[in-house]
Amino acid sequence: MSDPTPFDFDFAVAGGGPAGCAAAIGLATRGHRVVLVERDRFPRFHIGESLIATANQCFEALGLDQRMRGAGFPEKWGAQLATHDGRAGRPVDFSTSPEIARPQTWQVCREKFDQMLLERAREVGVEVREGERIEGVDFAVDRVELDLGGRTLRARALVDATGRSGLLAKKLDLRRDEPRLANVAIYGHYSGVPQPAGRAAGDIRIVARRDAGWFWLIPIDERLTSVGAVLPKPLYLRLERGEPERMLAALIEDTPAVAELMRGATLEWPVRVERDFSYSATRYAGDRWVLAGDAGSFLDPVFSTGVSIALESGLEAARALDRAARAGDFSARRFERFDRAQRRRFEVFRRFVLAFYTPEFRDLFFQPGPPPALFRAVVTVLAGNWRPRLRTRLLIHAFFLCVRLQRRVRLVDRIARRDPAAGFPEGTAA
Ligand SMILES: Cc1cc2nc3c(=O)[nH]c(=O)nc-3n(C[C@H](O)[C@H](O)[C@H](O)COP(=O)(O)OP(=O)(O)OC[C@H]3O[C@@H](n4cnc5c(N)ncnc54)[C@H](O)[C@@H]3O)c2cc1C
Repeated sequence: MSDPTPFDFDFAVAGGGPAGCAAAIGLATRGHRVVLVERDRFPRFHIGESLIATANQCFEALGLDQRMRGAGFPEKWGAQLATHDGRAGRPVDFSTSPEIARPQTWQVCREKFDQMLLERAREVGVEVREGERIEGVDFAVDRVELDLGGRTLRARALVDATGRSGLLAKKLDLRRDEPRLANVAIYGHYSGVPQPAGRAAGDIRIVARRDAGWFWLIPIDERLTSVGAVLPKPLYLRLERGEPERMLAALIEDTPAVAELMRGATLEWPVRVERDFSYSATRYAGDRWVLAGDAGSFLDPVFSTGVSIALESGLEAARALDRAARAGDFSARRFERFDRAQRRRFEVFRRFVLAFYTPEFRDLFFQPGPPPALFRAVVTVLAGNWRPRLRTRLLIHAFFLCVRLQRRVRLVDRIARRDPAAGFPEGTAA
């Protein structure tokens, strides 16, 4: 006799980070029965604190707009760029782009932010199970079965939002590394870091090192600043080994613009090291499954795209699954549009990230006075609009043409080093 109720929920979401919460909220608010399984108990630490402007549209869609405004997170209008010695640099102001509807966004303390998302999921009816780890996944003709350490949970389809753990990516061998972005990040949280005055107070500061590395400084509340260095792996391997605290301190000391800012700073949290965080997936969806957020792909943190893309892709996953449910068809064919969107967005940002690890891109990007129209076009994408108007797309092509020319001729002053010891990855043509 066939089982009359082949599933316990319409949808299961694996992982309760931004992607999982966005997908779960998107599905529950469309009337589906959703379970979200998260291995940790919140609040918990997570890196990824700087948002880009398009996250605002996600907050509206998730019913979190007012809460974000009232949460007391530092207001971010863009980035402040500086070279290692502070001699060159410029602001990246999201409000300069006419294609960004709401330019001001936030820097977030992830404990508080992720908790807020998870609470919102509960509020709209998602059954949230914290402290439960999904050990395995199996697909039957009409359902997906999750192994929760001996207990089985059945749903019609699965959103894998397990981040870098990549539940399905591992099972189905979907992950593809980005060898040219094999970078290492060393970071910690500090008090006593001075902030810029006025509207720039909440901006991320991006400081290029003398080599191919760079620093982020992100104010995450009125007291703490997240400070991290990212280095291509060969440069990291050349560092004198030691405790992560000592290594980060040495990198700070070696970067005058950062050292100056950190003079009165106190380390408040343990220093962490992360690596191998740039990759994509060969497929973002299949029969009865979709990948959202880092479970599908992630790019180097340089342009702070991770959380905002995770939210966006979670919402897209919810839309795609809702359409599939209405059609009564959860086959891979149903998710082709979803799959294409994930790839396209990844490619758009990848182009910028790869270019950032070339000296010629840095020459132009950190230049105090680049042509305003070209820079506005670049800012449009860096604020998160990866499907800009034709004119903007053409200007971006023109910008990348300038980057290529800068490799051969001096369009602008050379800011970045060219010698092999600078550690720019081989063959990273813009
Ligand atoms: C060094 C570094 C700096 C970064 N800086 C930024 C930044 O400034 N701005 C930005 O936007 N992004 C940044 N990111 C990226 C950001 O951290 C991620 O893109 C973002 O957290 C992705 O969200 P997610 O929901 O896809 O995954 P996650 O936030 O990682 O959530 C995945 C969840 O799944 C859970 N999980 C995993 N496996 C299982 C399982 N088997 N069963 C149940 N639950 C499971 C985990 O516990 C976790 O809570 C940075 C990343 C790195 C490495």
